[in-house]
Amino acid sequence: MADYEAIIGLETHIQLNTVSKIFCGCKTDSWQDPPNTNICPICTGLPGALPALNQAVVEKAVLLAAAVHAEEIRPRSYFAHKNYFPPALPRVYQISQYGEPLARGGFFDLPLPGGRLRRGTIPKLHVEEDAGKTLHRGDRRLIDFNRCGVPLVEMVTGPDLRSADEVAQYLIRLRQLLRWLGISDADMERGQLRCDANVSIRPAGQDRLNPKTEIKNVNSITNVRDALQAEFERQIREPDLPPIVLESEWKARILQGLPELPLERRRRFVEHYGLPEYDAEILTDERSLSEYFEQAAGSFSGEPKIVSNWLMNDVLRLIREQGRAAGALQLTPGHLARIIEMVSARQITASTGKELLEQVEASGRAPDDLVKEQALAQLSDEASLRELARGVLQSNPQQIELYRSGKTTLLGWFVGQVMRETGGQADPQIARKVLQDLL
Ligand code: ZN
Ligand code: MN
Repeated sequence: MADYEAIIGLETHIQLNTVSKIFCGCKTDSWQDPPNTNICPICTGLPGALPALNQAVVEKAVLLAAAVHAEEIRPRSYFAHKNYFPPALPRVYQISQYGEPLARGGFFDLPLPGGRLRRGTIPKLHVEEDAGKTLHRGDRRLIDFNRCGVPLVEMVTGPDLRSADEVAQYLIRLRQLLRWLGISDADMERGQLRCDANVSIRPAGQDRLNPKTEIKNVNSITNVRDALQAEFERQIREPDLPPIVLESEWKARILQGLPELPLERRRRFVEHYGLPEYDAEILTDERSLSEYFEQAAGSFSGEPKIVSNWLMNDVLRLIREQGRAAGALQLTPGHLARIIEMVSARQITASTGKELLEQVEASGRAPDDLVKEQALAQLSDEASLRELARGVLQSNPQQIELYRSGKTTLLGWFVGQVMRETGGQADPQIARKVLQDLL
């Protein structure tokens, strides 16, 4: 029997994190607010209300289009009325782009296990408004219009994905990119990133795409296409929807804000800093963290890998505990670099360094001040350690006997005593050397 493969295309809806909605001044984020408190005549579609386009929506959508390498970001794109009647859409139509969308012809590369890439093509990316929500309470249906007019980008992939794992990878990488660009919080639990999948199957090795019929209530796909095209052309002539006019100067200004993308940065971290792939992957998981690493590595005089170790082990834990982005920590990259510098120069012990991370994060004070104030500096002065070691030996004559009669493992015990005397701040290697001399 022939094997079958899955052919999967995704349609994602991305909620942009603008302050206000797409065509009015109402607040976009209603997560904490009671139903129907962020609405106005425009987003509830009262007769005569005219939409005015929020420029921030265009700017964020253009950044995403550029980040997925869109061949064409159109200087002029249009909205249409998409007629359908879910109960939470008060106007009977959704304002969406259809035949002339903001961008076309992009792609999005997904790293797969073993270093392979899967390329998801993005034939089309467009801007539209969200609908409201319905809630069922017993036999009553309640409607909340707060989400009406919340700006969305709809991004559709070609039938390029081949497994559920690839779909998961796509969503993970897309969420990373949206947060990286700062255009969406992409919290799936809050509906800020939603995904529909179109699936068909075919015998493995065939090129043919089997039809998928997802549009309901019409008897052929051709009829649907013709009907929508005719509808689109008719509606585009209606005067109450502003087009998106993207002048080249504005577009250039938006694209100046396009950062280096996650996969490019990951590659550069490996090549430029000599980091293992594993480190580069973790450090570029989130943009703020990757910038934090670069700043810390830039102010540290030693190997970048040392900075990476501190970040992955200790700073990431702080970040998780605090629940904020790396860039929002009180422990700045400069502070971190300075602490690692002191540990590398053996001015303080590694465990003091780790304590310092916490203290700097809690107080926002410079590590040098804290070291001075609390006398945390490591005791590496040989003369004073020798003095201390003498005292330790004097009060333990029996152990000296044992040591001298051959039980040399006692050296470690003596080092332990010196460490205890100094509250852990003696340089253990110098303490060991001094004790060996004296014994
Ligand atoms: Zn409104
Ligand atoms: Mn849509």
